[in-house]
Amino acid sequence: MTEAHHPSLDTGLIESLTDLERAREIAAGCVRCPLKETRTLVVFGEGNPGASLMLVGEGPGEEEDARGRPFVGRAGQLLDSALAEAGIPRDAVWVTNTVRCRPTKIEAGRVANRPPRVGEIRACAVWMETELRLVAPRVVVCLGAVAAKALIGKEFRLTQERGQLFPGPAGTEAVATLHPSYIIRQRDSESRARAREMLVEDLRLAIRRAGA
Ligand code: SF4
Repeated sequence: MTEAHHPSLDTGLIESLTDLERAREIAAGCVRCPLKETRTLVVFGEGNPGASLMLVGEGPGEEEDARGRPFVGRAGQLLDSALAEAGIPRDAVWVTNTVRCRPTKIEAGRVANRPPRVGEIRACAVWMETELRLVAPRVVVCLGAVAAKALIGKEFRLTQERGQLFPGPAGTEAVATLHPSYIIRQRDSESRARAREMLVEDLRLAIRRAGA
């Protein structure tokens, strides 16, 4: 099938979309990258379509893939509680990922998550740009290094540059923080609490800048 024959492959058509729900419908059949082979559902962004704050993670995990919604698994629960502590209702923001289909690998005979590849992020960028254009947030929060490298710059170093404001995509300001999954993976409760505090602190900065 060529680009001209499949609407989800036609970049021009995607770029001309003016409605988030129409974009979601078209993205549901997207075959722009190899992740189409292994996904169950395409996970388009969701939340407040007029949000001043957009949160961008890495990619859907198992639960997100099954339900077609971003950040609904354990990492999503941690994110929701951090948002609440920062005084931000989850439904006030827009939540999405650098790729909209679950990247997987086989590990010890089982299907496991893996970070998205650069080519996959590049293929999915047209959807990222569409969400940015139609939601038009003031501030983007990159959850983890993968999103930060994709949206702030490929030289971005999370350990050194977390919690600082940078020029973001589409005229936004961007701040990068820890990915909720990274916080869950911390070895002990003290490290987890410290990492979670950083996430809350960065979310507070983002919401102040977004003026929401
Ligand atoms: S990851 Fe993005 S570009 Fe790749 S098939 Fe899914 S929606 Fe399309």
